[in-house]
Amino acid sequence: MNRLKAIQGDITKVHVDAIVNAANTTLLGGGGVDGAIHRAAGPGLYAACLKFHGCPTGEARITHGFRLPAEYVIHTPGPIWRDGNHGEDELLANSYRNSLKLAEENNCHTIAFPSISTGVYAFPLERAAHIAVTTIHNFLRDSQVIDEVEMVCFDPVTLASYQREIEKL
Ligand code: ADP
Repeated sequence: MNRLKAIQGDITKVHVDAIVNAANTTLLGGGGVDGAIHRAAGPGLYAACLKFHGCPTGEARITHGFRLPAEYVIHTPGPIWRDGNHGEDELLANSYRNSLKLAEENNCHTIAFPSISTGVYAFPLERAAHIAVTTIHNFLRDSQVIDEVEMVCFDPVTLASYQREIEKL
């Protein structure tokens, strides 16, 4: 599947039509990748996010990218891992699917994702990578709009996990 690849890097620096933010349900910024995206985008992003009055887990909202190289930011709160019996798998798949839908509706051809929920939200990495890669793969199969999706992994362990899942396709 050459339209899906995993790279190591900082998602705030990638030149794509839309980057996805692993947000929380307030959409008002936080730690990890969310904090990095808000810092790099500048205060315009916070002001734009205020207007949503939050977002439920698994849904997605879109804003401009402000000072980022990406034109848009798609914000999606992934699930907080509890024990795997609280709909975590389906909610994580929803985050990927709803982000891709919104990208398509906004005519984005290139999209970058971080590893949603595997940081502070503690979703097991291998399980998250499997869900992410299969959900993106299935979406791309039917999409005429999206040309390329990059999983932008911050560290080598995360990168290896996504690369393994992509190789299985
Ligand atoms: P969550 O709360 O959804 O778990 P985190 O931001 O804590 O989100 O972590 C999600 C993933 O994003 C982790 O793998 C983390 O290392 C990674 N990450 C942190 N900063 C960046 C960045 N600038 N670019 C890409 N990934 C990042």
